[in-house]
Amino acid sequence: MNDLEFKHKVLDPKGTFCAAKWYNATIWLGSGQTTSCHHPPAHAIDLEAIKTNPKAIHNTVEKKLDRLMMQTGQRPSGCEYCWKIEDIDRDNISDRVYKSKIYPIKALDAAYELDHRTDVDLRTLEIAFDRTCQFACSYCNPAFSSTWVKDIKVNGPYTNLVSDGRGHFTHAHDSSQRYRYGESNPYVEAFFAWWESDLHRTLQELRITGGEPLMSGETWKLLDWFKTNRGKSTTRLAINSNLGQEVDVDRLLASIEGLEVDIYTSQESVTQQAEYIRDGLDYAAWLANVKKLLDSPSIRAVHCMATINALCLISLPDLLDELVELKKQYGRDRVSFTLNILRFPSFQSPLILPAYLRRTFELNLREWRLNHSRSNLMHEHELNHLQRLIDYLDVVKTPHSEAFEMPKLHNDFRQFFQQYDSRRNKNFAETFPLLADWYNDLPV
Ligand code: SF4
Repeated sequence: MNDLEFKHKVLDPKGTFCAAKWYNATIWLGSGQTTSCHHPPAHAIDLEAIKTNPKAIHNTVEKKLDRLMMQTGQRPSGCEYCWKIEDIDRDNISDRVYKSKIYPIKALDAAYELDHRTDVDLRTLEIAFDRTCQFACSYCNPAFSSTWVKDIKVNGPYTNLVSDGRGHFTHAHDSSQRYRYGESNPYVEAFFAWWESDLHRTLQELRITGGEPLMSGETWKLLDWFKTNRGKSTTRLAINSNLGQEVDVDRLLASIEGLEVDIYTSQESVTQQAEYIRDGLDYAAWLANVKKLLDSPSIRAVHCMATINALCLISLPDLLDELVELKKQYGRDRVSFTLNILRFPSFQSPLILPAYLRRTFELNLREWRLNHSRSNLMHEHELNHLQRLIDYLDVVKTPHSEAFEMPKLHNDFRQFFQQYDSRRNKNFAETFPLLADWYNDLPV
């Protein structure tokens, strides 16, 4: 069944149902926050509840109410990303399809019929132990990166920002890291309790994220568990890594020898532009680490996650060409990509670009997709993600229902990157000549 048939035959009869509400979670163990996927805003885990029931780190009151909404055909507001894509009305495939298609259909039927108050065992889980990270990417913030924390603590808050993004860059987000490595952390304890009791049996995939998870001591502890408990779990292990030059890829490969691990790495442009967007990145070192991993039998696949923002569209096609070359060298199924459209902070959304630039990038991507649509190196989801982005640039005017006032967003775009350039020793106009005239004309 292809993605569209799955949507029509399996999901649409269940109204607004999405299996991620039941079977998937992202959990930040450093701050005690959780969400169903990376689109809805995170919410707090009940500290009292997990003392007696570790499953409460996922089965929160908020998620249970969203389940009831989905069982009664209502649209939870936190899932706006999917509704926005589906409302384009060109049979675009939202993440609701991808997040549901990975589970057996009988599991979807069971969830749809289940009392919404029931605690459910996860089938896929992404966990972050802490926010230690050597990068400070432009679209990230101190809640997820200790290097961003340093920027704010050393240089102070970013100023003169007036749109929704201001809160990201004006303080160090101390509540995002409430426990240090080695301190007793009730969320980590609840996770390991549930892991030992059920999760090592029920999880199809356990993905470790961060920050940069390969810089967290807890990650290596979990890798040791997999190494010393072979055969005890069929859970596929996956790691989100920025594969920066400081990441010890050799240690990773030594610690996962004999296992089959998936690596997810973020990238959405190439060379200088990538190094501008992902501050701390050395693009050549990243590519070398990707190849080193693909040369190893312990790596099942490397998945490139592109965060589609206003700056990456110029050289995104060049990155896609690079990934196609890797597919040719290592095989179609060992290299894949997803295109994830950024919504927050709104002033970095691709929708703040003027129509003529959006049109240029839309046509470049249309041509790229056309040239690869019959290639047997492409996955169905990759072609669908490309079509979704092309239609998004063509049709969608605002990334979400919250305020999207262009003058404020243009002000923040200019204010932010002016301060980013001086703090990070960068030069916007030199790095993005195609955007320079538009950028320099932005009123502040
Ligand atoms: S945002 Fe989409 S994929 Fe995520 S939980 Fe909601 S419906 Fe599912």
